Amino acid sequence: MADSRFSKPKSIGNKFINIKCKDCGNEQTTYTKISSTVVCNICGATLARPTGGTLDLAAEITGDKQ
Ligand SMILES: [Zn+2]
Repeated sequence: MADSRFSKPKSIGNKFINIKCKDCGNEQTTYTKISSTVVCNICGATLARPTGGTLDLAAEITGDKQ
């Protein structure tokens, strides 16, 4: 079932990125290749989920982790 919260970033490569929770504004780091669901450390919202090797994001990408 489609969930409009999630979208797939294109050509993101394999790297660490900073993502921002749309619900509470918390920023945290995740890897673009994940094997399990990523949840917000603050409010527990689902921020990303793995879909056959491609990251499915429900958070805003704020940049690459330096
Ligand atoms: Zn949150």
